[in-house]
Amino acid sequence: MLNQLTISELTARLARREVSAREATQACLDRIAAVDGRVHAFISHDAADALAQADAADKLIAQGGNGASRPLLGVPIAIKDVLCVKNQPLNCASKILGKFISPYDATAIEKLKAAGAIVFGRLNMDEFAMGSSTENSAFGTTKNPWDLSRIPGGSSGGSAAAVAADEAIASLGTDTGGSIRQPAALCGCVGLKPTYGRISRYGLVAFASSLDQIGPFTKDVRDSATMLGVMSGVDPRDSTSVPQRVPDYTAALDGNIKGLKLGLPKEYMIGGLDPEVKAAVDAAVKQLEKLGAEIVEISLPHTDHAVAVYYIIATAECSANLARFDGIRYCARVDGADPIELYSKTRGAGFGPEVKRRIILGTYVLSSGYYDAYYLRAQKVRTLIRNDFLKAYEKVDAIVTPTTPTAAFKIGEKSDDPLQMYLSDIFTISCNLAGIPGLSLPCGFTKNPKLPIGLQLLGKPFGEEAILKIAHAYEQSTPWHKEKPAL
Ligand code: GLN
Repeated sequence: MLNQLTISELTARLARREVSAREATQACLDRIAAVDGRVHAFISHDAADALAQADAADKLIAQGGNGASRPLLGVPIAIKDVLCVKNQPLNCASKILGKFISPYDATAIEKLKAAGAIVFGRLNMDEFAMGSSTENSAFGTTKNPWDLSRIPGGSSGGSAAAVAADEAIASLGTDTGGSIRQPAALCGCVGLKPTYGRISRYGLVAFASSLDQIGPFTKDVRDSATMLGVMSGVDPRDSTSVPQRVPDYTAALDGNIKGLKLGLPKEYMIGGLDPEVKAAVDAAVKQLEKLGAEIVEISLPHTDHAVAVYYIIATAECSANLARFDGIRYCARVDGADPIELYSKTRGAGFGPEVKRRIILGTYVLSSGYYDAYYLRAQKVRTLIRNDFLKAYEKVDAIVTPTTPTAAFKIGEKSDDPLQMYLSDIFTISCNLAGIPGLSLPCGFTKNPKLPIGLQLLGKPFGEEAILKIAHAYEQSTPWHKEKPAL
């Protein structure tokens, strides 16, 4: 079935004219009709628009337009509801944006379109990307395609579930503290958070601007490299994007990892780590060794502070970023007798409880008298965390860890305990604080029930080539990425 193909498989068949983009798009739409009532990965999608884009792609293909400059020509790719796609709704899975329609394309979307992708659908997420389970959505919870009683991870839960359930060929998500890697791990797909500044954030609704990055969800590592190549590059509209050369990421996938040094942080293999997850990661490390990598024990001594530092910096930045949702220029306004009452009623009715909790926490840590004790100190510890990584990278080419401490948990299991929820990101958060790239790929399953387990590879700043190469070599020598949920 066409909806099950990877990007490289589909584009090869399109190039040989064996199938059309319309057929591939229709296959994804049929799959959505068949399973999304149960999975609920999508908040909405416009089938007619997707098919119109497919027809335009087929025209281009007929003219021989699928050359190197359009590596995604005819490929249906679904989008997290936090990225602007011109003339499509944008809600950030919140009630507050009302009937907002994006007036322009995010740079990442513009690049996908220029590469020929069929950009469709609005994928469910935790409201404003705050959460780890997609339970904090104003549009209902997304279910894990491997077990519908469990969460798909978050905040990009819809992006992971849509790819795992073959409702799209690939998808986009965003990662502030793990929101690409954690759901990718829990749903059994490949998720990549690039180096901070690799992909422009223009047109991404900001949660925590110094941590947010856009990245792909794909069915294999090659597709991840393809999508990264398409979306990377400096952008005058995002001053934090970096003018660093964009290599041919797919060319790095040569399978040869002999002599590469992989760091195993001793701080990551302790407490709270589920035995089945540990066993799968241990076996993956052995496999990498068999492929020729050299395993080196390393230390990231400030790991313990990462979650605390993250929840100060991320909430501080979110309290500032979300101030713009005031009911004046846009938003579902609730009127009041004066502007203050209007703000307060609009925000009171529009934001969900987790978003309110974070705005309040963030406002508190930034308030005078507390700023030095919390925010300034957190910034200093953030530097120590980054320095831990830079020091480790003097000795190793990349770092291997579990992506998550456990496989997917049950819906409702952690929703009343924010601290437990926050701890599910313990292995992913440091990467954002350090600004380095991180990738999660399947490395096995738990037994009963059968749930995916993820392996995380962390790279040097702008070291995406190395982690893609290692991930690809591992993937090609293991069967995990070929398994599908029995939906
Ligand atoms: N789960 C983390 C949080 O709730 C990370 C979210 C994200 O990466 N967007 O903040």
